[in-house]
Amino acid sequence: MVARLFFLSICLPFLLTSCQQSKKTVEFVDYVNPLMGTESTFAFSHGNTYPAVAVPWGMNFWSPQTGENGSGWMYTYADSLMRGFRQTHQPSPWMNDYGTFSIMPLAGELKMSHKERLVPFSHQQEKATPYNYSVTFDNGLQTSLSATSRGAVFEVSFPEKEDQYVVVDAYHGGSSITIEPENRLVKGATRYNNGGVPDNFANYFMMEFSHPVIEYGTYNGDTLLHHQTDVAADYTCAYLKFDVPAGEKLTIRTASSFISPEQAAINFNREVADADVQLISGKAREQWNNYLGRVEAEGGTDEQFRTFYSCLYRTLLFPREFYEFDSQGNPVYYSPYDGNVHDGYMYTDNGFWDTFRAVHPLFTLLYPEVSERVTQSILNAYDESGFMPEWASPGHRGCMVGNNSASILVDAYLKGVRVEDVETLYKGLIHGTEAVHPEVSSTGRLGYEYYNKLGYVPCDVKIHENAARTLEYAYDDWCIYQLAKELKRPKKEIALFAKRAMNYKNLFDSESKLMRGKQKDGKFAPEFSPLKWGGDFTEGNSWHYSWSVFHDPQGLIDLMGGKEMFVTMLDSVFSVPPIFDDSYYGQVIHEIREMTVMNMGNYAHGNQPIQHMIYLYDYAGQPWKAQYWLREVMNRMYTAGPDGYCGDEDNGQTSAWYVFSALGFYPVCPGTDEYILGAPLFKKATLHFENGKNLVITASDNSDTNRYVDEMRVNGTVYTKNYLKHNELLQGGTIDFKMTDRPNMQRGTQESDLPYSFSKDEKVK
Ligand code: CA
Repeated sequence: MVARLFFLSICLPFLLTSCQQSKKTVEFVDYVNPLMGTESTFAFSHGNTYPAVAVPWGMNFWSPQTGENGSGWMYTYADSLMRGFRQTHQPSPWMNDYGTFSIMPLAGELKMSHKERLVPFSHQQEKATPYNYSVTFDNGLQTSLSATSRGAVFEVSFPEKEDQYVVVDAYHGGSSITIEPENRLVKGATRYNNGGVPDNFANYFMMEFSHPVIEYGTYNGDTLLHHQTDVAADYTCAYLKFDVPAGEKLTIRTASSFISPEQAAINFNREVADADVQLISGKAREQWNNYLGRVEAEGGTDEQFRTFYSCLYRTLLFPREFYEFDSQGNPVYYSPYDGNVHDGYMYTDNGFWDTFRAVHPLFTLLYPEVSERVTQSILNAYDESGFMPEWASPGHRGCMVGNNSASILVDAYLKGVRVEDVETLYKGLIHGTEAVHPEVSSTGRLGYEYYNKLGYVPCDVKIHENAARTLEYAYDDWCIYQLAKELKRPKKEIALFAKRAMNYKNLFDSESKLMRGKQKDGKFAPEFSPLKWGGDFTEGNSWHYSWSVFHDPQGLIDLMGGKEMFVTMLDSVFSVPPIFDDSYYGQVIHEIREMTVMNMGNYAHGNQPIQHMIYLYDYAGQPWKAQYWLREVMNRMYTAGPDGYCGDEDNGQTSAWYVFSALGFYPVCPGTDEYILGAPLFKKATLHFENGKNLVITASDNSDTNRYVDEMRVNGTVYTKNYLKHNELLQGGTIDFKMTDRPNMQRGTQESDLPYSFSKDEKVK
């Protein structure tokens, strides 16, 4: 990476992509392994990812498909048979896919159904990059594909003297295909989904072939009909036969639209008409290099670079663009909320419960133009459905807890991401505190009546995961409080949300020093096991969830009995053996199994609730413990390989944790302007901000043993605080870490060094 530094500093920020083409050195995108996390199963997740060929935040991703249609595990590293190349919108195997279809070239025998269409391949013969996936099957058939946001181009090379087929699989759940053999075209629509769509939902696709179609036919899941051009059924496929001369390659160009077949044609003409796979691969590669290159890491091992840029790639996939450009070039979208077509931006496929933590804060720091469009899209969803999304794929989906759209919107707004109508934004946030979506109970706030009256969601009113809800609502209320102050709302309103922000205290049990479910009558639930997953908590136990006081760690410190006890409690998470109580689920869910094999006590990094916990040592004046454990987690729980994650990757969140942590800081509390310090992983990292400024972070004596911060200088001046401020980072400059092999127990210990806590906010008292 070092060789490129001078070169880049001239190019950035405007000329990055064009400059890079003339360089033959290793570039950022070359470190990305899209197979990271693909060695996963239902029972055990090493990431639950698939190798997405896409552009950053692309409307469509493409993935080789080894699993059957309908399986969330579309590509599993252990598989050796492939069924197709699939246009996918799947954010997670647990949410599954929608509007998906696939293309599969075949040599020799024609097989239509996904259950039969299995072609052997090996990993030695595949090459997966973010911008291209190529494979040579065992039978000699070669396929290479690349994608734009709304289109893709394939290049297929058939083995000699074999019959040449391409099967188009429009999936089940209601699909249709029309073949226009004389025009070398296939058009179709797929309505496959797993919920979260209006009745008129469809994904309209078209594809064009470079060579004459010599034979064709359709399949309806039961019967293969030769010379048939049209099919509509629950499950549909079509085949085309070609006679591509030896030495030539078949090119397939495809595009799609959620709006209409006509819009699919517009997308086709804008993005892939006349293009070949080399051109599209090159353009996608440029885009990836441009976005990945906002962070220029140096002075690490190859494995660390590969892990870092693979994580950054994952962070830049979701939420996806759900908008298209009309014939005038203006953004338009089919709304997954009301089924109508609107002007403007829409993004989807995001679980805010996961991504409020680090994904959106990373966008706000490095890609604020994306934050701006995402913010607008959340407001559009509110306009069209009456609610801000919490888990969207593509419309509202019932999943997880919290009302964390508040965190995303407020954090972005307070960091300068502006919207036209902030009053509507505020109104929408308030509405979310006083309502729950009639059909999708994880949207809005389930249990808001109790919460607003009692200050918590009780555990005996048939609302599951009530303690988790209470803790997240309290944090979300603090976010609203921050915005209310900024917008100079009436004092009474500000005071109300300030009060509610303290609601986390209602669940603190001073006996166990942990958060605990509470009954309607104000008494704690009689039975309590800190090791019990689920129940009053969400995919975690009380040990994991008690730290979900993002906005007021000092308040939690006070509740636990002071800094010393707080640190003991933090330490205990690592020293408690990985024992668990799975009675709520009745089985060992994969998140539990992943914790037990990590060998880090009850620290369950494979799931999101605890991912900020290590940084809390900073609030207690013992930052060296954070520095120690953060390095342990980076070293032990991430690799760039197919088994690279220690649990579900989840829409970029587990990746964004690594990206931030490797840089040396993390947004524990989105809504503040602070990033809490860890210690950098690399000897040097340069951040290139959209405002044109550069921040250079150095730690020249960094190593695995020199993992502790001895001294820190910001723009040359000694800096003792345990946090960095957003607007100061954006000014650019230098941050220099002096690293050491033993903890410096003097640095970062003074009260004035500690990060923000709500209960220390003078105006509240
Ligand atoms: Ca998870």
